[in-house]
Amino acid sequence: MRDLDEVFAALDRNAFRRRQVLGAKDRRYLQQRGLDTVLQHAADFVARRLADAQPVNDGRQTPWRGHPVFTAQHATATCCRGCLAQWHAIEAGRPLTDDERRYVVEVIGRWLRRHAVSAER
Ligand SMILES: [Zn+2]
Repeated sequence: MRDLDEVFAALDRNAFRRRQVLGAKDRRYLQQRGLDTVLQHAADFVARRLADAQPVNDGRQTPWRGHPVFTAQHATATCCRGCLAQWHAIEAGRPLTDDERRYVVEVIGRWLRRHAVSAER
């Protein structure tokens, strides 16, 4: 796991990650459900799609749309174990620890808080 300020500084320098923004539907969903609920969904997605040593369809398990957390995952490189290894120094090939699961949800939450209110990055 890396320092979050460093990770976010690096993400901000990456054109592909910067292009990932919340659509109107995602922002509405966030407002209606609230960040706490949405982050519970995030914890659930992490548990079901990322936490195993060998997640099913790893590299393609995170949809491109349909939930604000999916967008946040692509924006923060928490979409698959390859990105977690490359960007967050969380090695692939073994289950995520509880701390790592919490860390991933924290990354997603930090990005969502920053992007929930305005459409700008
Ligand atoms: Zn990925």
